[in-house]
Amino acid sequence: MADQAQEVATDGRCLCSAVTIAVKGKPVRMAQCHCRDCQRASSTGHLSNAIFEGPDVTVSGDTNSFTVITDSGSRYTRHFCPRCGSLMFGTNTRRPGMFIVPVGILDDSSWFAPQLVLFTRSRPAWDITTDEVTNYATSPPLPPLPADEG
Ligand SMILES: [Zn+2]
Ligand SMILES: [Zn+2]
Repeated sequence: MADQAQEVATDGRCLCSAVTIAVKGKPVRMAQCHCRDCQRASSTGHLSNAIFEGPDVTVSGDTNSFTVITDSGSRYTRHFCPRCGSLMFGTNTRRPGMFIVPVGILDDSSWFAPQLVLFTRSRPAWDITTDEVTNYATSPPLPPLPADEG
């Protein structure tokens, strides 16, 4: 799936411009997530997220963060602008060293092409996402990563 991703290079910013972000390279994964946490974090029916390797992401400006324990037991920390509240990125102990970037903050997100749709069990009837890629009721198994145990 990830080999469908194209190289990207774009900047992004929060609503008040106090926090900026730059991403480059190929996203590791692109997904639309309907989990209840993403609904609350976005105030709408889903988040469209691109996951990047740490070295491909540069964040400038201070963020506040909030950590939740996910269903799988990992720690998911979302970072947002302390002034305007825009969600800038997340990190998840399930994916060490990677940044989960909500693509709506980016100046150019035209490259975004979801490879999977997650947590359709909590998708509201009014929030339409594509059924042309695999839809998962929750989250799919992770591909093996070097840091994964067992
Ligand atoms: Zn801001
Ligand atoms: Zn989610």
